[in-house]
Amino acid sequence: METHLADFIRHTSAGREAEEILRRCVHCGFCTATCPTYQLLGDELDGPRGRIYLIKQVLEGVEPTEKTRLHLDRCLSCRSCETTCPSGVHYTRLLDIGREVVESKVPRTGSDAFMRGALKNLLPRSTLFGAAMKLGQSVRLVLPGMLKAMVPPLSSAGPAPQTSHARKLIALAGCVQPSMYPNVNGATRRVLDRLGIQMVEAAGAGCCGAVRAHLNAAEGARDDARRNIDAWWPLLESGAEGLVMTASGCGSHVLEYAYLLQDDPDYALKAARVVLATRDISEVIAAEVAGLEPLLQACGPLPEAERLLAFHSPCSLQHGLKIRGAVESLLTAAGYTLTAVADSHLCCGSAGTYSVLQSAISKRLQDNKITALTAGKPAVIASANVGCMAHLQGVTALPVKHWIEVLDARLSA
Ligand code: SF4
Ligand code: SF4
Repeated sequence: METHLADFIRHTSAGREAEEILRRCVHCGFCTATCPTYQLLGDELDGPRGRIYLIKQVLEGVEPTEKTRLHLDRCLSCRSCETTCPSGVHYTRLLDIGREVVESKVPRTGSDAFMRGALKNLLPRSTLFGAAMKLGQSVRLVLPGMLKAMVPPLSSAGPAPQTSHARKLIALAGCVQPSMYPNVNGATRRVLDRLGIQMVEAAGAGCCGAVRAHLNAAEGARDDARRNIDAWWPLLESGAEGLVMTASGCGSHVLEYAYLLQDDPDYALKAARVVLATRDISEVIAAEVAGLEPLLQACGPLPEAERLLAFHSPCSLQHGLKIRGAVESLLTAAGYTLTAVADSHLCCGSAGTYSVLQSAISKRLQDNKITALTAGKPAVIASANVGCMAHLQGVTALPVKHWIEVLDARLSA
């Protein structure tokens, strides 16, 4: 696509990157076929090709309006379009650049600004969010339906192994996961321990930065990345094998650190090393399958009533990290029969803060997803990201778990 970027951005690194991405797009429109918002709304401007065109116009000097911002806001950042695109267009990078420019030219006001400010300040602060979650959980039974659906029942991390191992992996605690689903990292710790790996958490690390990035607070997201790198660095320097991510949304964002900090002379190299050292928990366990198999064989067969499982692969796992089939193979090896899930490439509507900020579209995607997941009458739904788990659990009585919790329970049986 031919581009003529305006002076305000042409000679910046963002401008150069945007130009390169725009030139790759051949306007074929294959991506629209797999875009959830285009499928629901049927408007070209609510699909990737239309949004690319809007961003191109803005970067070429056309003044954006609230309508431009709305079409960009409606994007889930699910990256389904990137998986489909035959030209390798890195759409979400372009979207980030476009959103930052539009945000600065069309500032938000009123309840929109207030809500985004509140989310930006509450969610990444794990202590503050944890206190709010605890309060919600203590009165959960009398909460109105919608709020109740957003607050999972109080749970614990379970027993922590006391064994020390020479092999160590640094886990990210994250921001909302410790208070909503403490058992995810608890289960990871136990499974890794069985495989001879010790999971450690770095004091001082916190939100990966995805929350602020999704809310167009780019500098805040960079600060989150720098703080985490500072917390992880001493552990990496003292021999930890690397980092393990138990929420695919966080993992997919941490892999962006090198890009986010490329212009920061103090952090660019460190960020690149962190990216190289980061793996999703499914990659870690898949690499240890030789040690896992005898443990699974010792478990005996799964009871018939527990065998059917529906797996929801988060967008961050299948489109962001491009990990497809690994979790499914591990669950099959653990004795589960995975049910068929229609349109498994589509987003469940959680998408970070999307379920709060674009609740009507999010609800439609949630309904479609839960229908697809329950069609095969599973006994349990498994996923790989805290946001998807909470979002899906809000509309089903079936247990929704992280797949590592399922594996841990299997190994503990
Ligand atoms: S599929 Fe790729 S090249 Fe085709 S319109 Fe979409 S982004 Fe552009
Ligand atoms: S990221 Fe998802 S919602 Fe956004 S344009 Fe691409 S496919 Fe559509």
